[in-house]
Amino acid sequence: DPQLNSNYTLDNYIEGDCNRLARSAGFAVAAKPGATSFNPLMIYGAVGLGKTHLAQAIGNEIKRTYPDKLVIFVSCEKFCQQFVESLKNNTINDFVNFYQAMDVIIMDDIHNFAGKEKTQDIFFHIFNHLHQSGKQIIITSDKAPKDLSGLEERLLSRFKWGLSADLQIPDLETRIAILRKKMASDGIDLPAEVVEYVAHNIDNNVRELEGAMVSLLAQATLNKKEIDLALAKSMLKNFIKNTSKEISMEYIQKLVCEYFEVAVDLVKSPTRKREVVQARQISMYLSKSLTKSSLKSIGAFYGGRDHSTVIYACQTVEDLIDSDKKFKGYVNDIQKKLKMS
Ligand code: ADP
Ligand code: MG
Repeated sequence: DPQLNSNYTLDNYIEGDCNRLARSAGFAVAAKPGATSFNPLMIYGAVGLGKTHLAQAIGNEIKRTYPDKLVIFVSCEKFCQQFVESLKNNTINDFVNFYQAMDVIIMDDIHNFAGKEKTQDIFFHIFNHLHQSGKQIIITSDKAPKDLSGLEERLLSRFKWGLSADLQIPDLETRIAILRKKMASDGIDLPAEVVEYVAHNIDNNVRELEGAMVSLLAQATLNKKEIDLALAKSMLKNFIKNTSKEISMEYIQKLVCEYFEVAVDLVKSPTRKREVVQARQISMYLSKSLTKSSLKSIGAFYGGRDHSTVIYACQTVEDLIDSDKKFKGYVNDIQKKLKMS
């Protein structure tokens, strides 16, 4: 099956706290596709955390156990393109029949349905047909169903019928295990201290984690050097510089405002409304900790305030992080989003 990539297996999908529910739901679905309550199974999480890998692995496992089942893996984007093509060529029926004949449909990145109402309609019908016939549906998304925007309510409500399981950033041990597994499968042998160094420093995204190791190997080969800690350190400096964009105050402000659903103008205005003050103070705090901007320029940026306002904001946020778990969660969420850009 060309849409399934046999390199992605459940076996080489390392288990951690970050993915335990999603992974075990994947096993359950693969054992009895269409016959568990995990239908649809929705896997969601930020970019590079392993959604495609897990979804592919479930498909491969189903094919291995049930070679006769028709399994299709399709990205939402490709599905949308196919739909447009079939409209143009007057082959909508073939398009719909093809998908409705499947035993298992795996659709990757369904957040890409946003704004595409006609394609959503078609998918809604295919979904209903398959679900009613006891066929398995697996979807991935970068957000939880409740946070997906631009998708029709009736489709979202279908997604909530089954199980949604999220993927988180793996902890250090899981990151090390992922690197070890990758090394084993690629026949690579790196010193433990190098593996640990990479895993320790690349802590936001599995794709980047693997990318760092690959580029470390490439550099060592190119320069005919041993891979040791010193090389890893110098390489990683470049790697991190090359991959992560500089975070700007504009960007912080944008993400914070999106997060709290507050208008950007209000943050810069004199208003003392509670949620605006909170967004403003968190923006100031993050600007202080994540950019090189001075207190003075931070104050100026957020509506012409003076540096003592910024100091007060940072103090307030730090106190709240210590005393208020929910608040700490907000700040962590936003920090994650900022670093994933
Ligand atoms: P996403 O689709 O969420 O953006 P991918 O599935 O493409 O992420 O994963 C990015 C890379 O990280 C892939 O090479 C994948 O094999 C690897 N990866 C992610 N999670 C794991 C894991 N738990 N175990 C092994 N490899 C993983
Ligand atoms: Mg993906």
